[in-house]
Amino acid sequence: MGTVAENLEAIQHDISTACRKAGRSPEEVRLVAVSKTKPASMIREALEAGQRIFGESYVQEFLEKFASPELEGLPIEWHFIGHLQSNKVRQIVDKVSMVHGIDKFSTAEELSRRAQAKGRNVDFLIEVNTSGESTKYGLSPEQLLDEAPKFMALASVTLRGLMTIASPDPEEAAGEFALLRELLERIRTVAPSPEHLTELSMGMSGDFPEAIAAGATMVRVGSAIFGYRH
Ligand SMILES: *Cc1c(COP(=O)(O)O)cnc(C)c1O
Repeated sequence: MGTVAENLEAIQHDISTACRKAGRSPEEVRLVAVSKTKPASMIREALEAGQRIFGESYVQEFLEKFASPELEGLPIEWHFIGHLQSNKVRQIVDKVSMVHGIDKFSTAEELSRRAQAKGRNVDFLIEVNTSGESTKYGLSPEQLLDEAPKFMALASVTLRGLMTIASPDPEEAAGEFALLRELLERIRTVAPSPEHLTELSMGMSGDFPEAIAAGATMVRVGSAIFGYRH
């Protein structure tokens, strides 16, 4: 592996290549650098190389980094990408730009309640279990189609799209990415403001080019930038 800056450059290059192959513009795909378990010093390195969006998965770890003197005042856009429990929402609501992994209506309700109390609006994505694996979080496709209107009606949060974690097998993953895209199109047809529903958060270090081919607008890449997690 190279330095963080070299790795970022290589990923940006691969994103551009995948976009070109798919007939898409690289501006359509945002890179979320997944910095979970990695120190603030590596986030700084990535920032200095031009990266702005960082994804964290664990509330306690995120809060420590958020408050770390090393990152104070820097132009970071934080996305929470992990599994979020309702009782932790309050701690992150005024610190993140987007929550990717909402997998229950009650969590979205709590996010809306806490955002309202802070006088702000938070963008979020619903996590969909596209592989059907019982170990994965997320609404089933059927649940999503049933429940999406309720999520869209919440006052202080905006549903911006869908997120999924695909199977390790590339062929299965390709089918799951295509399913997520189809589900987004279907819920757009019942959305009061379909123009808000634009995001597909899918693709990680091992499969982001395939996700881009299937329409990803955000890819969440960790180990290919920061190295393996122990
Ligand atoms: C850890 C994580 C990633 C990044 O995974 P890599 O394989 O290291 O790129 C992406 N999305 C979520 C939800 C994660 O928890």
